[in-house]
Amino acid sequence: MRTPLVAANWKMHKTVQEAQAFLQVFRGLTEDVTGVDIVIAPPFTALTAVVAGVQGSSIAVAGQDAYWQAEGAFTGAISPSLLAHTGATHVILGHSERRNLFGDTDESVNKKMSAAIAFGLTPIFCVGETLEERDRGEALVVLTRQIRRGLDGLSGEQVASLVVAYEPIWAIGTGHNATVDQAGNAHAHIRGILRERFDTGAAESCRILYGGSVKPGNVREIVAQPEIDGALVGGASLDPKSFFEIVAGGRATTV
Ligand code: PEP
Repeated sequence: MRTPLVAANWKMHKTVQEAQAFLQVFRGLTEDVTGVDIVIAPPFTALTAVVAGVQGSSIAVAGQDAYWQAEGAFTGAISPSLLAHTGATHVILGHSERRNLFGDTDESVNKKMSAAIAFGLTPIFCVGETLEERDRGEALVVLTRQIRRGLDGLSGEQVASLVVAYEPIWAIGTGHNATVDQAGNAHAHIRGILRERFDTGAAESCRILYGGSVKPGNVREIVAQPEIDGALVGGASLDPKSFFEIVAGGRATTV
């Protein structure tokens, strides 16, 4: 039985003060919510404030990326060790914006995955195809490649506790979410690869989230799919009421 998980990716939004104001409202709204894990990924500058602001709740905090080295002369980079020391427990890795804008590759994401796990962080490992790849009928081939390479060298035990996020790039921030069938097929395919590449236990334990224009109005039908274990939410996570409604809807996951 996988507990549903709903994660907020704030991207490059929110000052410390804005993050604190969000938490004040969001914590009040989610006080009695059970049966769903919540993760918030603020920008690095608000990490410490968000960790302090979720004290006494079960809300977990994530970084939005991490380099694979522990420390050193890597100007601008944040190591998994530095992240862990803020109190963050999760880290988003391989997000399509990191891959497309900042040069992340399957190989660099793989190094980041291993390093994050070594420092005790739980990766939220993002995969997803472009519209061109989908139109060419290559969506599942792309997912297979990203998963095989991104998880190369990990053990079944490590895969069991990580989180995969299927985020079709054409659905991110566009308002066009994947249909329930498209998402359901992709998720079933991802779980199949995990089963084949690792083992049934790893595949059945690993949570696979859907991401791409999730909103209060569509979250229920998305998470009702048996292979979808929750959502990674960008734009609609910036407002506390909207994110609360998605969290509440995320509990509808039936697996
Ligand atoms: C994301 O960037 O991870 C994302 C899913 O964004 P949005 O919800 O805005 O499509």
